[in-house]
Amino acid sequence: MKITTIGWWGAYPNAGEATSGYLLESEGFSALIDCGSGVLAQLQKYTALQTIDAVVLSHYHSDHVADLGCLQYASRILMDLGQRKQPLKIYGHAEDKNFDVLNYLQYSTGYAFDKRTNLQLGPLKFTFCRNIHPDPCYSMRIEENDLALVYISDTGYTDDLVQFAHGADLLLCESSLYDEYQGRIPGHLTAGETGHIAAAAAVRHLVLTHLPHFGNHSMLVEQARKKYNGPVELATTGKCWKL
Ligand SMILES: [Zn+2]
Ligand SMILES: [Zn+2]
Repeated sequence: MKITTIGWWGAYPNAGEATSGYLLESEGFSALIDCGSGVLAQLQKYTALQTIDAVVLSHYHSDHVADLGCLQYASRILMDLGQRKQPLKIYGHAEDKNFDVLNYLQYSTGYAFDKRTNLQLGPLKFTFCRNIHPDPCYSMRIEENDLALVYISDTGYTDDLVQFAHGADLLLCESSLYDEYQGRIPGHLTAGETGHIAAAAAVRHLVLTHLPHFGNHSMLVEQARKKYNGPVELATTGKCWKL
């Protein structure tokens, strides 16, 4: 599987960039993970919109779903033009009424998941872990053959995430906070906590994402490295990895 960073900012994007969005591609199958602000414009630099088979949403905060409505409009236009055959499949939790917007006429269909779901999308197998966040939110583990990508989306620290990320070949983990903010802003991880999860879960490679609009991001890498000895890097627009 190929993973491409479409957007990595927390909260809102800087000029010409995007908040959360990641493109997964394997064997002709394409899934978009989260669809934040600016994602739709960025995504088209890497693939055509009609190639997106499925969208999987961690939660319904705007920095993860702001462009979803426009992606549904794109599905409508492309289907009406005959350039897209199947409605867009959109997966999200059904724990609040935000789920309802995943269905849009005959152009997109919503499917619910929870922490017990085993979801096979093309060649990719998805499982989910409930995060600690002000609104319901899920991390996801995506496996293909014996390789695993784990995406830890917005969350406070919980040991559940260590177990969930165990042995991942790539851990894409939110790192919204510098260590100085430990315990001060609930529902997000510090870089040190991210490094701790990576080390305790014995992952092979750590990528920090969902980054803040202040401070020096290289400090986040430094703080994660105090806990984790493996390779650590920051997500940047267009950066991709292959598993
Ligand atoms: Zn959130
Ligand atoms: Zn967020």
